[in-house]
Amino acid sequence: MNYYTVCPTCGYKLLKASDGSNIEIICPKCKEKIIIEIDNGKIVVVKVLTENK
Ligand SMILES: [Zn+2]
Repeated sequence: MNYYTVCPTCGYKLLKASDGSNIEIICPKCKEKIIIEIDNGKIVVVKVLTENK
């Protein structure tokens, strides 16, 4: 089963992920770094604070 994940900051639709996924992604719209975990159908989206280079 696949789940759509959206950026918690801007609502941009990021990707489809399947159960058991653990994905690190940067939102192409707002450039937030996000970690997405899917565990037994529960989607956990965590924003990662990054330093500006
Ligand atoms: Zn975003």
